[in-house]
Amino acid sequence: MPVASGVSIKELVDQLNPEQRRAVLHRGGPVLVLAGAGTGKTRVITVRIAHMVAEGLDPERVLALTFTNKAAGEMAERVAGFVGKDAARAMTVGTFHSLGLQVVEADAKRLGFTRGVNLIDAAEQASAVRQCLKQLRIDPKRHDPGMFLTAISNARNAGITPDRMSRMLGKKLTASVYRAYLEWLRAYQAMDFDDLILRAVQLFEEHPDVRDRWRKKFGTILVDEYQDTNLCQLKLMRILADEHRSLCVVGDDDQSIYAWRGADITNILEFERHFSDATAIALTQNYRSTGHILSAANAVISNNFDRRDKSLWTDVGEGEQLRLATCRDPGAEARFVADEILRLRSQHGVMLGEIGVLFRTSAQAGPIEEAFRQRQIPYRLVGAFEFYERKEVRDTLSYLRLIVNPYDEVSLLRIINFPQRGVGPKTLEALRDTASATKTPLFSLLDAADCIDGIAASTAAKLARLKDFIDEARARYAAEPAIAPLVEWLCEASGAREAWIRDPTEGPGGTRRWKTIEYLIRSIGRTEERLVGIDLKGWLRLVALDGRSTVEDEEAAAAEEVALQTLHSSKGLEWPVCFLIGCQEGIIPHQRTLDTPRGDVSEERRLFYVGVTRARRIAYLTRSETKRNYRGLEETKPSRFLGEIPAGDYTLVSGDDLEGNVSDDDKQQQLARLRELRARIAGKS
Ligand code: ATP
Ligand code: MG
Repeated sequence: MPVASGVSIKELVDQLNPEQRRAVLHRGGPVLVLAGAGTGKTRVITVRIAHMVAEGLDPERVLALTFTNKAAGEMAERVAGFVGKDAARAMTVGTFHSLGLQVVEADAKRLGFTRGVNLIDAAEQASAVRQCLKQLRIDPKRHDPGMFLTAISNARNAGITPDRMSRMLGKKLTASVYRAYLEWLRAYQAMDFDDLILRAVQLFEEHPDVRDRWRKKFGTILVDEYQDTNLCQLKLMRILADEHRSLCVVGDDDQSIYAWRGADITNILEFERHFSDATAIALTQNYRSTGHILSAANAVISNNFDRRDKSLWTDVGEGEQLRLATCRDPGAEARFVADEILRLRSQHGVMLGEIGVLFRTSAQAGPIEEAFRQRQIPYRLVGAFEFYERKEVRDTLSYLRLIVNPYDEVSLLRIINFPQRGVGPKTLEALRDTASATKTPLFSLLDAADCIDGIAASTAAKLARLKDFIDEARARYAAEPAIAPLVEWLCEASGAREAWIRDPTEGPGGTRRWKTIEYLIRSIGRTEERLVGIDLKGWLRLVALDGRSTVEDEEAAAAEEVALQTLHSSKGLEWPVCFLIGCQEGIIPHQRTLDTPRGDVSEERRLFYVGVTRARRIAYLTRSETKRNYRGLEETKPSRFLGEIPAGDYTLVSGDDLEGNVSDDDKQQQLARLRELRARIAGKS
């Protein structure tokens, strides 16, 4: 049977190596592919889907899960290339969270959510925890709200209740915040990201009819990046695959980089125990990288304990050695990266889209962006983009959420006094008290505030106007369901645009906030063109689940750009040329890890391994000798992972920009630094 790409499914399968083929063709029980980077795991998933569809499986019955919307989009695109766009569109290809949201939304009432699903994002979660701390009189300066959130999330995913946390684990303070947080979620009928999976499992466990409906819907399940799943996600898989047992998971324990977010590496290592009828297949041929890159990556990761040993090989030859560059400071490092990119382009014809610049922490992107701007190198920043966390964007989203669901109280409270309409804490308290005493949603009280004690008549009138405004916006959208024009009207008519432009914290001109919203409106317009028929609810859901990639996808339309992104977001991707910047102690391994009592750097090493294995032909590892902190300039040490690379796999290149006249002294100093670095690395390996 010919497939959309013009290649027959037989040819597609024939191109695979015998182990890949076995994983694609295996039927009658779960299959695990546990294999190193670049061995074609994702390819196994996509060809397996195409093969099953060619065998006659209805595309609607395919469930393929991966880690980010972006990765899901890429997977869907690859599959569409094999089976055609319509068939690919009929499949459920997404993230665990997007699946959870679908399941939970369909039966929210059964979970007691009578006013729809109000999904809160990370920023709203943080603000909820701060409210809980305030209520419990815990000083957020002494106790980091982020730590509470991580502890709460881990406990919830492990099925630990606040009571158990307090009694058995003795963590009384965290347990009290945990309890208050659950209460907060309940009071606002809100769900956080963990809820999407937890509640889906709860639905399946408590309502067999719901469970059976979803079990029947999906005839086969495939999971990419399985090493980063948590306990609850495993439960979900087990329930859904329990009858048909057509489950294919692929992953690499060496690329598990989300333990800090509750990922449980034992899910992949003990797959055969969780699914006793499972077949395990190993892949060893790496199709991505050249010999030196692979040898370096293998050597570094072999320093980790508790891993499955994998010997990866390649038949593309040794290729070029890794290039290690030491620069004076982060600015020089950025200029070096930018100049090398220009050189590769002009001397070797490398396209900008073939280059990835990877970093450990968001702060590292700044100098690189500046160097790129100065040299007019187009780039696309991924993963460090806090777009949806900006105040103006969050305010706009709150209005939009209210249009979809006026009972979304988190959103209502966010904009109840934006733009300023004189609603102070006293009014809010009076509103909240009345809402809970009369069991009336806040939104319904907006036009009855004149009957509430403690609310002035003038404020009540303003609240009533807010309700009218939301009602009017909803009517407008019903009459003309286009999102971008709605946002434009909304910002103007609500007075938000003027408030942003006049914002005194913005400095002269004060238009940055409005420019962000203009960008948002353009980006929404492009999404509407791309995803024909998407409605406001669908768009908000896309943003809630993975806002970052929605904006970036739009930007990706411009083809010739360098990708500038975090190591975490680079998982699964590849570039012919990769720069891994900031290879120094304190960055990778990260200081936070070094400061922990055991200082276990194995996850940081896995992150480094992920970075190196993204490169197909050329890999640069750069570092800066100094860093700036509040004490001034401070010397840095090369990352210990550099010292784990075999000497034959790298070469040192000069990392200092030699703009202008360079004196002999400078050259001598530079040589001395190179020699010193070589000695330090040799001393370590
Ligand atoms: P990662 O661990 O980084 O997620 P992966 O194991 O999922 O990697 P893929 O992304 O599927 O690997 O494949 C890596 C590269 O090798 C891709 O460019 C892919 O097209 C290519 N590839 C995979 N299998 C084969 C094959 N049998 N023949 C030729 N190329 C292949
Ligand atoms: Mg992959």
